[in-house]
Amino acid sequence: MSKVVILGAGLTGLSTAYHLEKNKFSNYKIFEQDNTPGGLCKSIKQDGFIFDYTGHLLHINDEYFKTFLDSALGLENLNLIQRRSFVFSNETFTHYPFQTNLYGLPNNVISECIKGFVNRKTKIRKPKNFHEWVLKHFGNGIGKHFHFPFQKKLFSYDIKKVLPSWTGRFVPSTSLKSIVEGALEDKAKKVGYNSSFYYPKSNGIQTLPNLLLRQLQNKVLTNHKVSSIDLKNKIVFFENGHQESYNILVSTLPLNVFLKMSKEKSSTNLKSATNKLVCNSLINFNLGFNVGDLTTKHWIYVPESKYAFYRIGFWHNFSENMAPKGHSSLYGEFSHIPGTKTKKQLENLTQKCVNQTLSILGLSKQNIVIQKNLHLKHAYVIYDAWREKNLKKLHKKLNEESVYSVGRFGEWKYSSMQEAVLDGKIAAETIVNKTFLAASKTSLEKNIISQQDKKEATL
Ligand SMILES: Cc1cc2nc3c(=O)[nH]c(=O)nc-3n(C[C@H](O)[C@H](O)[C@H](O)COP(=O)(O)OP(=O)(O)OC[C@H]3O[C@@H](n4cnc5c(N)ncnc54)[C@H](O)[C@@H]3O)c2cc1C
Repeated sequence: MSKVVILGAGLTGLSTAYHLEKNKFSNYKIFEQDNTPGGLCKSIKQDGFIFDYTGHLLHINDEYFKTFLDSALGLENLNLIQRRSFVFSNETFTHYPFQTNLYGLPNNVISECIKGFVNRKTKIRKPKNFHEWVLKHFGNGIGKHFHFPFQKKLFSYDIKKVLPSWTGRFVPSTSLKSIVEGALEDKAKKVGYNSSFYYPKSNGIQTLPNLLLRQLQNKVLTNHKVSSIDLKNKIVFFENGHQESYNILVSTLPLNVFLKMSKEKSSTNLKSATNKLVCNSLINFNLGFNVGDLTTKHWIYVPESKYAFYRIGFWHNFSENMAPKGHSSLYGEFSHIPGTKTKKQLENLTQKCVNQTLSILGLSKQNIVIQKNLHLKHAYVIYDAWREKNLKKLHKKLNEESVYSVGRFGEWKYSSMQEAVLDGKIAAETIVNKTFLAASKTSLEKNIISQQDKKEATL
């Protein structure tokens, strides 16, 4: 039977392993660089607080995933929460999404948004970039007051170089009726993919990888950081000196990292893509406060460019176990393109974000009882023209080398935890089918040869 090697034990890698075993396929090994599996879905526990690697909320709309969660954990162990999310701009909190909730904003802003919508550029047939996409669907006012500055901060990238293909379910649409109604009435609306969400009652989002982990027969080999991959001879090398050969490789590593480490046939030319794949990094600052009833909000989007961060969210409102009694906690995020900021600049920016957060919330430094800064090296993939043109070709070439690069960063896409579990399921099932077909073919071939041998022997 083919030997499968899985690189990375985040949700996608763990789900691949789980689904291989579910299909009675145990000839695999799974390696992880960290000393704990979980990837982006790890949680940190400190002084009674729990922090995830920034807000990780569960959006479930796939029956298989829901059934899996229910049987492995029990849905009763998840809080089902109706979103209370806001936008903070012009010193005002408005309900999210901005494009249907202008209530409370200065009149000139509301007027710009409505006029902009009426005069939106509906004639643009196929928007070339996110900027044009906003002009077509929302107009210049809503763009100027929310989407342009917000997305620029989230991506840390020129939004005229970002394609609109990622928008899909992530950006709720609007109409003149919704805009006007939302300007006249202060009322949250159930729109968008995240109007309600689930969150584990205890232990943070790490509950999810732990569920998969608990059910695996094979152990995750932690502290195994891949240093190079010999695609020709099908061997993975690790920094600790270990090496492992494979027939099929499943990589959940960021695609640019994987390509950089791969040694290939001169004809394949995969490595040249390494620097073309753009992804931003994120600093996630987490704060614990000695204040019990800070806010009932779940999260706040902060579009204005004078604020260094683009979002803050409140752990204690996801589950009461995220902060000790009488305390509250939050996460905040700001992004940068790797290599564009020094360590000192990032430290200064983090401090600026903390100070600005305190001032928005009316708190002081004396209220902070814990601060935990986390660095997510890979956060948001940039959907640029190069990606659009070349990504499929890259994956095709990798498949020809018996490599499946899967998951959020393996596939170089925006995707959720649910999708990570489903990506792993698809990878496992593809491998099982492929090896089953190959095995049947070999046994068929063997059968034919032995029949021929028999025939020859009787001649
Ligand atoms: C800012 C942000 C917010 C998000 N919010 C949500 C949300 O609210 N809801 C939601 O559903 N999803 C959310 N997601 C998406 C979710 O985090 C991902 O879809 C999911 O965690 C991806 O899992 P993965 O296994 O594909 O990748 P990862 O979790 O990145 O796992 C990859 C693994 O590979 C390992 N690895 C990397 N390099 C090496 C190496 N050289 N050698 C060995 N191992 C290596 C890593 O340590 C890691 O464990 C968010 C993502 C981000 C970035």
